[in-house]
This record gives sequence, C-alpha cells and structure tokens, in this order.
Amino acid sequence: MKVIIIGSGVIGASAAYHLARQNIDVVMVDKHHKGNATDAGAGIVCPWMSKTNNQDWYQMARMGAKYYPELIAQLKEDGETNTGYKQVGALGVSLHPEEMDKMMQNLESKYEDAPEMGTFKRLSGWEAKELYPPLNADFEAVHVSGGARVDGRLLRDALKRAAQKKGAALIHGEAVLISGGERIKGVKVNGETIFADTVIATGGAWAPALMNPLGLSLKVMPQRGQIVHLRLPETDTSDWPLLVPQKGHYMLAFDDSRVVVGATRENKSGFDYRITAGGVAEVLDEALSVSPDLKYGTVEEIRVGFRPMGPDMAPLLGTVQPYNNLILANGLGASGLTVGPYAGSLAALLAAGQEVNMDLSPYDPMRAIKQMQ
Ligand SMILES: Cc1cc2nc3c(=O)[nH]c(=O)nc-3n(C[C@H](O)[C@H](O)[C@H](O)COP(=O)(O)OP(=O)(O)OC[C@H]3O[C@@H](n4cnc5c(N)ncnc54)[C@H](O)[C@@H]3O)c2cc1C
Repeated sequence: MKVIIIGSGVIGASAAYHLARQNIDVVMVDKHHKGNATDAGAGIVCPWMSKTNNQDWYQMARMGAKYYPELIAQLKEDGETNTGYKQVGALGVSLHPEEMDKMMQNLESKYEDAPEMGTFKRLSGWEAKELYPPLNADFEAVHVSGGARVDGRLLRDALKRAAQKKGAALIHGEAVLISGGERIKGVKVNGETIFADTVIATGGAWAPALMNPLGLSLKVMPQRGQIVHLRLPETDTSDWPLLVPQKGHYMLAFDDSRVVVGATRENKSGFDYRITAGGVAEVLDEALSVSPDLKYGTVEEIRVGFRPMGPDMAPLLGTVQPYNNLILANGLGASGLTVGPYAGSLAALLAAGQEVNMDLSPYDPMRAIKQMQ
C-alpha cells in the first residue's frame, strides 16, 4: 500500500510517522509555505481550562493532550528526543477571584473524564509568582499540573525524521491532485506524477487551493497570528508554567531563557505576512499588563503564522466525497499543536483502512466542502 501525504505541518508529519511505523509506503510532499502555522505556533497544550461549550472540539483536544506522553515515548524509542515537549503545569490567572472559582468548577467537572490533567488548586498571586516570577502578584491563579508546552518546529521535524528513518520519502514542492472518476490517482509535483492508493491532504490554510481543481470549495480561512519571542538573559525559564490569562494573550517559556507571548487572532487577514505595529503593540501591551517584569526581556524574534480555520472549532477529518481514497485532515485552528499529533494518528488509521476507536462523524469534512458552481 502506498500513501501520499500533502503537507508536512504537525498533522501531516504525524500521519506520516504513524504510517511509516507500520511499514506502509509513505511519500510526504511539502511546499513549506512561508507562514505555515506549525512554524509559528506557540505550543500550549492545556485544553481543560477552555471555557468553550464545543464538545466535539474538546473531546479531540482532550485526546490530543492525553496522547502526548505516549507519542513522546514512541519517538524516544525511535531515537528522537528533541521535541521541546515538557509538562511544566499551567497557571490560569485573573484579577477577579470569581473567575478562578469558575475555573475550579470547570476543572472539577472535567476531571473524571480527563484525570491526565493532574492536580489542580487555587493559588494566591504571590504563590503563583514563585512559579512564574514575572507575574503581577495582584492576579489570582489556578494551577493545573498536567499543562504542557511543545516546540512545534522541533516536534514536527522529529516526526518527519522518524518517519524518514522508517522509509518515508520527503519531496519538496507543491502537489496538485490528479483525479480519475471517483478516485484520486495520485499527485503531480515538480513535473513528476506519483501514484498512490490513498492521499491524505493536510495543507493547512493553503488547502482550499488544493481542492479547487477538483471542483470543490473548502471553507478553510487563514487567520493571522503575530507572536513575540522574548529573551531573558541568565534566567532559567525551563520549568516556568504556561500562563493562561482569562482575558488576553497567553505566555509560555522554553529551556533557552525564552518566553513566548501572543498571539494576535486576525481574521480576514488573507496571506498578509507583514508584522504590524498594531499587532506587536497588542501582544506586548497585554503581556506586560499581566507580567510586568517581562519588560526587561529583549525582543528576539517576531513570527507570523496562518492558522487554518474551518467553519467551526472542531477539526476536519475524514473522506472527501466522492473520492473514497482522499482524506482531509485540516481545520486545526488555534489548537493544532494540541490536536495535530493525535489527529494525524487517526488520519493514518483511516488511510490504512484500520479501525478508529472514536466516533469521527462530528469531524466529517463534508460540512466544510461544497461543489463549485
Ligand atoms: C501564532 C500561532 C500560535 C499558535 N499557538 C498554538 C498553541 O499554543 N497551541 C496549539 O495547540 N496550537 C497553536 N497554534 C495552532 C497550530 O500551530 C496550528 O493549528 C497547526 O500548526 C496547524 O498545522 P497544519 O499541519 O494543519 O498546518 P501547517 O503547519 O500550516 O502546515 C501545512 C503545510 O502544508 C503545506 N502545503 C499546503 N499546500 C500544499 C501543496 N499543495 N503541496 C505541498 N505542500 C502544501 C504547507 O507548505 C505547510 O508546510 C498556533 C498557531 C499560530 C499561527
């Protein structure tokens, strides 16, 4: 069996890895568009604090967070340890104590189904500041021990390398689908035609262009995110928890004295790669109001990425009718680093024709696809 995967962002790389682990013949085709979301993603993995009522999103995100330790262990077995993943805990923070009471209730109600969130408890601003030193101590906090962070670039590259070690091929270029009747025959890339039994189309925010030649219109829009990386020289940030304010932007730290703050959520941005004064001001204003001591940090880098936004929060995962050998894996929106590795493993099962132990009907991609007139 041969599977082509178009796009090797976090979800495509994960699908490739899971297929290659089963000795299935895999070809990844990736253009690595500027502004791909995995390159820019912050890396918060903590779905339990979310206030959304969208259960379909929550179930997939919960499974995504739960799957990480298993995936990281598998990658380690395959010789890949540089993923940037670490369970550092998360601090939900607010100036309003009643919001923290609600967060405690929210976590209590989810705990039975998601014990992987670990322990959770209320902390005073000063207690929280001991864990996350730049915090404004006027904030009240809730600490969740299972919160984790991951470096999207490192994880994606580790998945790709591991897939390649198991025989997967990687082609740099832009793939165009080739159809014949109600099947996808393969793809054309760099002037060459490659045939396959099944194609997994990821493609992030660029996926609509992939579907258009099939006469299909895919409702996935790019949402621009501008995100700022700050360096705090000589500061050990490796164990700092994620900071998730109830209002405003999140913050997370990595091992190399780096704190990432952001990000903007700019709908209707199109593929506009500019870093704007307004975007950077918004991110820094919000960050400094919650963590004033970050003002001593130096601005190391500003990244811009385009989140692939589907018609609702839930991912798009399943077969694209009428092509029963074309699987779409997309719509990861703002939580793709949480969801992507797990959803990629499900896409791999679908491509291999194997059983999926989850009801995927809520994720049917056909809700986002229309025949073009
Ligand atoms: C600023 C920002 C912050 C974020 N923070 C978080 C966070 O804290 N936690 C979280 O869980 N998620 C976060 N996300 C979301 C997450 O990054 C995305 O949902 C996820 O990376 C999407 O992955 P993807 O593989 O679907 O798309 P992408 O990473 O965009 O990858 C798509 C790939 O497909 C390729 N491609 C497209 N068309 C073709 C073609 N025709 N041929 C070949 N290749 C093609 C592209 O070149 C690209 O490499 C954030 C996103 C942004 C932008």
